[in-house]
Amino acid sequence: MNHLNQIRVRFAPSPTGYLHVGGLRTALYNYLFARKNNGVFVLRIEDTDRARYVEGAVENLIDTLNWCGLEYDEGPNKEGEYGPYIQSERLKIYHEHTERLIQTGNAYNCFCTAERIEKLREEQQKRNEQTKYDKHCLKLSKEEIQSKLNEGIPHVVRLNVTIDQKVIVDDIIRGRVEFDSNLIDDQVLIKSDGFPTYHLANVVDDHLMKISHVIRGEEWLPSTPKHVLLYKAFSWDLPIFAHLPLLFNPDKSKLSKRQGDVAVEDYRAKGYLKESLVNFVALLGWNPGTEQEIFSLEGLVNSFSLESVNKSGAVFNIEKLNAFNFEHLRLKNDKDVLAILKELLGKSKYANHTWSDESLLLIIEAMRPRISFVKEIIENSPYFFEAPSTYDEEVLKKRWKDDSSQQLEKLIDEFSKLTNPVKEQYEEALHNAANALEISNGKLIHGVRLAVSGVGGGPGLYDMLFILGKDETIRRIRTAIERMK
Ligand code: GLU
Repeated sequence: MNHLNQIRVRFAPSPTGYLHVGGLRTALYNYLFARKNNGVFVLRIEDTDRARYVEGAVENLIDTLNWCGLEYDEGPNKEGEYGPYIQSERLKIYHEHTERLIQTGNAYNCFCTAERIEKLREEQQKRNEQTKYDKHCLKLSKEEIQSKLNEGIPHVVRLNVTIDQKVIVDDIIRGRVEFDSNLIDDQVLIKSDGFPTYHLANVVDDHLMKISHVIRGEEWLPSTPKHVLLYKAFSWDLPIFAHLPLLFNPDKSKLSKRQGDVAVEDYRAKGYLKESLVNFVALLGWNPGTEQEIFSLEGLVNSFSLESVNKSGAVFNIEKLNAFNFEHLRLKNDKDVLAILKELLGKSKYANHTWSDESLLLIIEAMRPRISFVKEIIENSPYFFEAPSTYDEEVLKKRWKDDSSQQLEKLIDEFSKLTNPVKEQYEEALHNAANALEISNGKLIHGVRLAVSGVGGGPGLYDMLFILGKDETIRRIRTAIERMK
């Protein structure tokens, strides 16, 4: 633990364009751990790999985290004591620290050309040896180094890894993992472009930002012995490590873009609720130890612990996510669903609809038990937003008989007598019409449903009529009768 005796964790993404669902899980576990323990959740942008830099990626990342509800305490646009929180703004710090390592013999300048390194690698491969740097430049004298530096010869700075050491990583999730230092390359710390590598910047920042727990994906475990060596080289205390299990597709292949969507923004665009996505991602590698599956973000905070994160990989099962969306849509309050529906309508061809919030809420109430996604209100019941232009062929064949038009005329008569009818009055009027015609209610119900909606299914008929209103209902029945002639 840091000397502040406070839990401080960080999510440290590289801005490569979008937030991967695996990244969301890392961010979420850090967030949950911080909130559960009254700690601080830091967002740090690791943008030192200039080749991978993507314009707008940072803004996009922050926007996505905000959408998910994972608010950070310190980070870009939220300066705290340990900023700046964007690594490209911290270059001076990395250089100063590297200088310290050079002074203590823990790092050295390396002037080897790419050609020499490549040749070395080929030779090592031929001899079936592990490919790593041969510490060639470690033998250079002070004077030689100075003159090369003066000449401006391109160079990198490398970590001087001591051979024949056991490097131990104690991990909350994985237990103790041991590495042989002979298998660790003299890692480049500063590249020839002057930018630090991930390893150096990551360790320096975790230390300076007083990070107590490093919680990240298991793909970073092989890098951790290098980090441990760096902490030692600086004579710094180690943070506590927790490496999260890998994510897989159902066929056990690595979760990748090829198999489906991996970007959080893709799920957002498809209409998944943030509540269900967050809930689903939380269960990728963690479970509360009970049967409970549906959690709010708050519920997750209360139940989460790093100790109950699994070691084995987690499978990303889209059906489960869909089921979660169904559940969370039920839990959402009307106002939130209304806001989503209005946003979707605004982007749809019904942008000019004239429904009041009150009417939209009625539509939501009628449709909610029948859908998993808010967008299905528009997709499955377009008849709330425009009169049907066609009628379902099969329903038509089954439900529209020779006498249907005449029967519906009678229904129009009954409906016309009503003033500002509520549901029950439509029902009563329909019964009256059926009685007068000496037919079953069902005959009229199917006919009028097809006339007003164009389809055979949907919410309760009287709900539908009430939402559409008397004038629109009558207009649509008339149009249907006209068209069937
Ligand atoms: N920048 C690394 C990434 O992109 C951070 C890994 C870590 O958390 O140490 O995931």
